[in-house]
Amino acid sequence: MLRPAPSFGSRRGEGGTSGHRATSGVVATLRALDVRPSRRLGQNFLTDPRVAERIAAVALEAPGDGPILEIGPGLGALTEPLAASGRPVLAVELDLRLAEHLESLLAPWPNARVARGDILDQSLGALILGAAPVTIVANLPYAITSPAIAWIVEQGPRVARALLMTQREVAQRLAAKPGTKEYGSFSVFVALHAELEVRFRVSPGAFHPRPDVDSVVFTLTPRPYPGTTAEERAEVMHLVRAATGGRRKTLANALGQGLEIGADAARALLERAAIDPGRRAETLSVEDWLAVARVEGARP
Ligand code: SAM
Repeated sequence: MLRPAPSFGSRRGEGGTSGHRATSGVVATLRALDVRPSRRLGQNFLTDPRVAERIAAVALEAPGDGPILEIGPGLGALTEPLAASGRPVLAVELDLRLAEHLESLLAPWPNARVARGDILDQSLGALILGAAPVTIVANLPYAITSPAIAWIVEQGPRVARALLMTQREVAQRLAAKPGTKEYGSFSVFVALHAELEVRFRVSPGAFHPRPDVDSVVFTLTPRPYPGTTAEERAEVMHLVRAATGGRRKTLANALGQGLEIGADAARALLERAAIDPGRRAETLSVEDWLAVARVEGARP
């Protein structure tokens, strides 16, 4: 179930009064490392230690001593409080200069280590040994937000929970309800594969460089949509993607074109699923898509 919380509203987020000293510490570290924040790598570093502590506290609130995987640790704002918990922490960083810095920063914590590389090229099984479910923590780099979330969800039950921070608009798309302008194929994907709960909002002042927009912290707990099979979920995504691009078309026209079956066959398919072919694709709930997928899947 998708649970967007009221924190998308206009309430002031965390980090609006982030200390100048914390920001200058990050700036000084970057200068010492001769690193200019890279837009391509989504390098907006957290400077407000209160926000970092709050994120780490949410990550650690579930009982247990399972491993923690951090995606994109950067300068270690989240990694340090996570490592201090004593839980095994593995931080995967693509920027080798930052990975090297982090290795020395984490030296006091033998339970924490750094792996260098692109998270999207890794398999969780190869990164973290043992069967204990993993908690994932990330202030996600913007450029890989969607593939990283897909990567997390695809790990299935190996992931106990992910605690993620993204731009507010991304979180809104993930948690969107049918019929809203934010609702799209990624909203359906998340609803099919995970439970999302918005926790709190973070202001641009909590980062360096300062982004243009607010961020949102939310948990994502992978779970299959109740009562569905893997084939049904795959079929739903096939249908949703086929209908994408037809935002101003009727569902029958969009699906007829996307599935290359023509509008008449698409209309017949939708009528068998008891879905009005005149609706727009962006108004269909997960249950509606499942009804179409089950009729489509039953075709000889
Ligand atoms: N966690 C740090 C913080 O909160 O201050 C840094 C967050 S910054 C938004 C994103 C980090 O992800 C950067 O350190 C960047 O180098 C790293 N990164 C970008 N793409 C990555 C990838 N594909 N795999 C692993 N790390 C990546």
